[in-house]
Amino acid sequence: MQYHAFVIKYAEIGVKGKNRYIFEEALVKQIERVLSKCDGEFNVTRVNGRMYVDAKNFDFNETVDQLKTVFGVTGICPAVSIERNGDGNLPDVAGISKAVVDFVDGVYPDKKKTFKVKVRRVDKSFPMDSMELAAHLGGEILDAYDEMTVDVHNPDILINVEIREKLNIFSEVIPGPGGMPIGTAGKAMLLLSGGIDSPVAGYMIAKRGVDIEAVYFNAPPYTSEKAKQKVIDLAGVIAKYTGKVRLHVINFTDIQMYIYKQCPHDELTIIMRRYMMRIADIIAGQTGCMGLVTGESIGQVASQTMQSLMCTGEVVTDIPVYRPLIAFDKQDIVDISYKIDAYETSILPYEDCCTIFVAKHPVTKPRAEIIRKHEENLAEKIDELVKTAIETDEVIVIEK
Ligand code: ATP
Ligand code: MG
Repeated sequence: MQYHAFVIKYAEIGVKGKNRYIFEEALVKQIERVLSKCDGEFNVTRVNGRMYVDAKNFDFNETVDQLKTVFGVTGICPAVSIERNGDGNLPDVAGISKAVVDFVDGVYPDKKKTFKVKVRRVDKSFPMDSMELAAHLGGEILDAYDEMTVDVHNPDILINVEIREKLNIFSEVIPGPGGMPIGTAGKAMLLLSGGIDSPVAGYMIAKRGVDIEAVYFNAPPYTSEKAKQKVIDLAGVIAKYTGKVRLHVINFTDIQMYIYKQCPHDELTIIMRRYMMRIADIIAGQTGCMGLVTGESIGQVASQTMQSLMCTGEVVTDIPVYRPLIAFDKQDIVDISYKIDAYETSILPYEDCCTIFVAKHPVTKPRAEIIRKHEENLAEKIDELVKTAIETDEVIVIEK
């Protein structure tokens, strides 16, 4: 079956009034953005709370794969869509019957199936009501194909027939990612490491319509170009959904060395984390980000006990820190990582700036007042080092 249209389903955008318009506009824009990457000619339209993609000379799988990356889309329904004729009329009952019978034949070469016809009649001027038309179309299908039988409770095929501004016939609903369209919520700064968790955290926040800017703390020569490339690739995974990620690569080596020299080694990770948060906070302020995002999850490692989270969180005072994975088990995070195609990259074995200086026995219950005290040992140089790190920020724009 060669389709030429998709009915796009979207759920949460059922916001009323002016907001609804903003969300739908953003959704159209995002759909157009991903389709511009596909071969073919596409036309995205929005009519009476329904969204359509009309397609010509296109590759079905490529197009569906792209539509699956648009947040806000809950279902992608390959459809036969018939326009009104010059007089503004839809096909009559006989015409609709023929279209539905042909649709079934085209999509289901194997007819050993149970089915149900569901009619939605938005155009109330149509002479039959929904129930009558559904019964009639069911009869036509049964007449045409001996092997098909009706099952109204649990059919193999649910054939949707919509009488609206046009006639739509579709059965398959390919799940979309859900969420809210990018561009409806502002921007956040993701602390992106090369691990499994932070890309998933970024994906989850982006799924709420949030544009993502990212920061990676690099420690050359202790960490390699490959480790940096891995983070660039992970930013690319998120950019697939958001269109673009601006990645700030911060050279953290001197700060890390200085902390190593001046502070107790069992507090190294915590103090490093506090400086990562502080720097991310400053860059967020400079770039209009309304929150920080991390991949932290309670208890996952020593630096993520509740005491540690208190210590790292307290240095960010002006904007919220979003931790979407806070209550997730590792396996649940891994499942999402797989689903978004980040996992294979995340598990590549390149060193991370935190693993290099890590203490054998890091504190698991740091106390903020003690950490603050030990940070006083950094007074002489730290402000200058932070300033330099921010001034030498390398910005890499990743567009997908
Ligand atoms: P991940 O899998 O995201 O690396 P993790 O389980 O390794 O997380 P930690 O190393 O404790 O956990 O890091 C906690 C969070 O701190 C990360 O999820 C990330 O948001 C941030 N983070 C850690 N290291 C870096 C880094 N080098 N650059 C930027 N952010 C980092
Ligand atoms: Mg990590």
